[in-house]
Amino acid sequence: MSSENTFDVIIVGGGPGGYIAAIRCAQLGLKAACVDDFTGKDNKASLGGTCLNVGCIPSKALLESSHHYEQLNHGLENHGIKVSGVKIDIPAMIKNKDDIVGRLTGGISGLFKANKVTSFHGRGKLLAGKKIEITTNNNDVSIISGESIILATGSRPIDIASAPIDNKNIVDSTGALDFDKTPKKLGIIGAGVIGLELGSVWSRLGADVVLLEAQDTFLPAADTKIAAEAKRQFKKQGLDIKMSTRVTKATSKGKKVTVNYEDSSGEHTIELDKLIVSVGRRPNTDNLFAPEAPIELDERGFVEVDEIWQTNIAGVYAIGDLIRGPMLAHKASEEGVAVAEVIYGEEPEINYAVIPSVIYTSPEIAWVGQTEQHLKSAGEKIKIGTFPFAASGRAQALGDTTGMVKMISSVETDEILGVHIIGPQASELVAEAVLAMEYSASTEDLALTIHAHPTLSEALHEAALAVDNRALHIPNR
Ligand code: FAD
Ligand code: NAD
Repeated sequence: MSSENTFDVIIVGGGPGGYIAAIRCAQLGLKAACVDDFTGKDNKASLGGTCLNVGCIPSKALLESSHHYEQLNHGLENHGIKVSGVKIDIPAMIKNKDDIVGRLTGGISGLFKANKVTSFHGRGKLLAGKKIEITTNNNDVSIISGESIILATGSRPIDIASAPIDNKNIVDSTGALDFDKTPKKLGIIGAGVIGLELGSVWSRLGADVVLLEAQDTFLPAADTKIAAEAKRQFKKQGLDIKMSTRVTKATSKGKKVTVNYEDSSGEHTIELDKLIVSVGRRPNTDNLFAPEAPIELDERGFVEVDEIWQTNIAGVYAIGDLIRGPMLAHKASEEGVAVAEVIYGEEPEINYAVIPSVIYTSPEIAWVGQTEQHLKSAGEKIKIGTFPFAASGRAQALGDTTGMVKMISSVETDEILGVHIIGPQASELVAEAVLAMEYSASTEDLALTIHAHPTLSEALHEAALAVDNRALHIPNR
């Protein structure tokens, strides 16, 4: 095989796991290639994976646009600002989202060039002997060879038989980023992160949104108190969240979808303009390995890896949504850096205990560490401090006083075990808690840290003080 087809490392998948791994490999002096099959709306290669193309970035662009629209319509009266005649141009909003995606995905191509990462556009398949077969969109096939391979092919939406995607009226999260007008009635199967974020987008733009959730617990991974407050706020905003439901059939006909579902009160039928199916994602392992390169999967279909992200085949690694753990871009990227360093011969570690979670609704929800219910069921003795944004001067000035910061620490050591935030800019505020927990800080450490006034971050300071009943701007228990 010629030297142009042999690499130190081949990465299959160019999402936040794969492209970061490729860049880090190149920084370490390794000759890296990245094989990615994503094709953008312009029919050209588009690096960045789910996250940049059809995930984190486009959804946040639409959340931002719809938030501005909502604010102009309903959010500025308290500031004495009267606005009338506000109009939304959906195609312009979608174009803005596409332009943002184009700039960022183009940026990854630029970074690959700057770092001398070789980029292949096509579908990669692992063959025996650490070779990757690449099949292009035109069905041209070539083979490249690597000393090490990193599989980072990510995930795709789970389909359900009762609501088959037709990409017209019944869509997955990708279709829901591209409606050409606001659906009057929008149904969403699954009240998880995607359902709530995309439901918020279209609800702010005027859709009547109903979410059909199978489980009886709302946001089970979140702290119970935060989840309860979130549900209350979403209800106030008009999101109709129906728990413990089972969709039996969704039928698309003309421009409508008819959905049959059951709950404890019996069978129901609703007619909708659009239906989004967002019931979770599954790893992209289809046709990823030849029979001569049998990669082991776990019982849920994720690629099985050891503590250095190595699969059952020596020199073949896997990261990101393809393996166990939260399906989050920042988790995939951390693994991308770490696995590149493992291949280079270092011994990196990832502190999985402090991966932040964020839901970019309004109010935003963000947390790191463990929940009260989790710690209590594990028999931990804990102290809790809570501070409401209503008592924050900055939140009052913003006119956005919903929610709170809840901090949990160990009775024995005072080490912070979990921080749970619902409220303005929770996504940014949680970073302080992540840093504190990364350094095993106590609430005392946080209480001794000076926070600028007036800032939303003072709510974290006050929650840390509240853990020992010494909050200054609320009465203590
Ligand atoms: P991916 O980003 O899925 O990238 C994998 C790439 O590999 C893709 O380009 C895919 O086309 C390609 N590929 C697949 N098979 C092959 C093959 N055989 N050969 C070549 N290429 C292949 N996470 C957050 O942290 N924050 C958010 O705000 C957030 N918002 C989201 C919103 C939505 C609507 C969705 C759907 C997801 C969101 N996520 C978010 C999750 C996040 O996008 C994923 O966790 C992240 O993209 C996973 O990164 P990855 O590199 O493992 O895989
Ligand atoms: P999810 O797991 O967050 O939510 C899926 C929901 O669908 C769950 O509440 C589940 O109980 C429900 N469900 C499952 N089967 C059902 C059925 N048949 N009928 C009704 N309800 C059903 O998954 P998601 O919202 O699809 O998101 C996928 C992944 O993408 C998540 O793991 C998430 O981490 C990631 N993501 C992250 C962000 C973020 O970080 N802000 C945003 C979007 C997506």
